[in-house]
Amino acid sequence: MNTTDILEYDKQHIWHPYTSTINPLPCYQVKRANGVYLELANGKKIIDGMSSWWSAIHGYNNKVLNDAAKNQIDNMSHVMFGGITHEPAVNLAKKLIDITPSNLQKVFFSDSGSVAVEVAMKMALQYWHSLKNQSKKEFLSLRKGYHGDTWHAMSVCDPETGMHQIFKGALPEQNFAQSPKCGFYDKYDNNDIKSLKKIIEKKHKKIAAIILEPIVQGAGGMHFYHPQYLVEVKQLCDEYNILLIADEIATGFGRTGKLFACNHANIEPDIMCVGKALTGGYLTLAATLASNKIADIISTGKPGVFMHGPTFMGNPLACSIALANINLLLSYNWEEKIKSIEKQLKDNLSDAKKYDNVADVRVLGAIGVIEMKHNVNMGKIQKEFIDHGIWVRPFGKLVYIMPPYIISPKELKTLTQSLLKVVKNN
Ligand code: PMP
Repeated sequence: MNTTDILEYDKQHIWHPYTSTINPLPCYQVKRANGVYLELANGKKIIDGMSSWWSAIHGYNNKVLNDAAKNQIDNMSHVMFGGITHEPAVNLAKKLIDITPSNLQKVFFSDSGSVAVEVAMKMALQYWHSLKNQSKKEFLSLRKGYHGDTWHAMSVCDPETGMHQIFKGALPEQNFAQSPKCGFYDKYDNNDIKSLKKIIEKKHKKIAAIILEPIVQGAGGMHFYHPQYLVEVKQLCDEYNILLIADEIATGFGRTGKLFACNHANIEPDIMCVGKALTGGYLTLAATLASNKIADIISTGKPGVFMHGPTFMGNPLACSIALANINLLLSYNWEEKIKSIEKQLKDNLSDAKKYDNVADVRVLGAIGVIEMKHNVNMGKIQKEFIDHGIWVRPFGKLVYIMPPYIISPKELKTLTQSLLKVVKNN
């Protein structure tokens, strides 16, 4: 099929993320990708500012990851995980246990971030069920949070910007605290925790777990909050016997400047979800890690097993690539690299603060955010980004980039300069 036919068939038959089938926004055909570049069907190469939604941290067509995939596929690409194990899963589990907070000792592999969140929430509920606690069945999360699009994940996303209105009456009703206002670099304000504390004091007997995105509230607003908030959440969880689930699906594997965002506050959650960058953007894989306390209680209670087991659990191909990806990350001075991206983003994006149409500019680790005063026209702005040789996908008022870590200073300069040019005129 030629490009026109491909785009036409796509338009007629394929659903894309959050789109209408009758009036979809234009799609662009990508033919191949290499390094930080996506190559469009017409041969134009554009710099990827999105790392394919946080995942392609080492860019595209990476030799180390390609080799890991090729070696594994010649051996076996998949085998069921019920009653069977294999080296790729064991090696990856060991690596994850080594690099995440030390209390996390058990790994549950699944297919995607949303499923990892479902699994985490099920673990929390099954933990209390095993303890014969019949009242802890609700969750507490933060406004402006985002945890995925499956059922329970959706129920803990922000109640206004999320999908609660559409599914009201069917979706479980959860508890929401105000999101922390204090920015990552601000002086901490004790008032920030008050809303969460009030809900806990009133409802702690019903709350199974708090689920939050540590430090970076991503899809719900791209806001970076103060590590002290996280410290206080953990203290309240301990004080009131509530589990803490850290959703590190977007923040994991160095993106915020620490290997995991929880490390900014030195806290140990009871359960942690990772995904996205886990395989360097090669394949879909996620993991939910839990402490021995959680796993032991679930395993000693009734029914004595954790009730989840996806078909593609622990997929060897994905596990092999994930292990190669993490080893690659740890093989170079990634911390310095993220620091230098952070510095350059701060320097290069700061000009946008002076633009009339810009409300705020913020940077943390390898994430740069320009918050506009008004919602952008997605179809128009996306085309302009491409005309300027970059791939950026904003939502609402938020124009943001999180490039692959392998981006060179020169490529990052091109990305930010083009970004500013487009932003200024929108
Ligand atoms: N949690 C967070 C914090 C996320 O950013 C996302 C994805 N944007 C998810 C969960 C869901 O992950 P997935 O899209 O892989 O289901």
